[in-house]
Amino acid sequence: MQRKVVLVTGAGRGIGAATAVLAAERGYAVAVNYRRDADAAEAVVARIRDAGGDAVALRADVAVEGEVAGLFSQVDARYGRLDALVNNAGILETQVRVDGMDAARVRRVLDANVVGPLLCCREAVRRMSTRHGGRGGAIVNVSSVAALTGSPGEYVDYAASKGALDTLTRGLSQEVAQEGIRVNGVRPGFIYTDMHASGGEPGRVDRVKAFVPMRRGGQPEEVAQAILWLLSDEASYSTGGFIDVAGGR
Ligand code: NAP
Repeated sequence: MQRKVVLVTGAGRGIGAATAVLAAERGYAVAVNYRRDADAAEAVVARIRDAGGDAVALRADVAVEGEVAGLFSQVDARYGRLDALVNNAGILETQVRVDGMDAARVRRVLDANVVGPLLCCREAVRRMSTRHGGRGGAIVNVSSVAALTGSPGEYVDYAASKGALDTLTRGLSQEVAQEGIRVNGVRPGFIYTDMHASGGEPGRVDRVKAFVPMRRGGQPEEVAQAILWLLSDEASYSTGGFIDVAGGR
């Protein structure tokens, strides 16, 4: 029997890599998307194949419409089906207040965190929706608890992008609810990944973990578990919902 196929964006490291590896353990063939770091993505693919799984690394910047189209075409060519999409790729920039931001920065963040996921959702719906002759599927959008807190003093632009992603999740879930597609979100809290270095503070999780009710940061694998549950048939009546993976924050 052919394996189900999942596309995970930004899967070369961090939460995306953990999600790709866990998806393979659960029996999915995995399209491992990356933007720049081919070696990291190939390492994830090698780890999956060494364990007997099926994976392929596919380069594309999800913020670029033509590259998104090319990414999904490559999944079509390689696997001939798509059952699940994890919109995980996302960026933040150096911590700064709103009164120090410029439009170029905000547009970069919105392009990667909102426009990219929306374009990937579009391509997935075109393939999965029963309206388009598909067999249904599941989408998980990786948001952030920042959508709820607003990230004052750090990156309000990033938080706002995740708020938009949550609204996309709600709206799309209802749009395709009768077409065999479930759309849900996961909101991680402080997770140990390289992302915090992009904000200029690699050790951020250890600084802020005192504010987390569980008094610790999370691991990428703990987020991956929630994502895989939402993708699975165990979540068959869940759509338009969110799981916060944030230690009680
Ligand atoms: P990360 O370690 O910085 O990894 C981000 C990944 O996304 C990288 O593999 C990167 O690829 C890829 N990426 C970035 N922009 C891309 C684009 N335009 N097209 C394709 N791939 C792109 O981040 P992470 O912490 O694992 O974060 C994953 C998701 O979780 C993000 O959406 C983030 O907002 C969310 N999140 C993280 C935390 C946290 O505490 N870490 C908390 C809440 C939410 P390259 O390396 O090839 O550029």
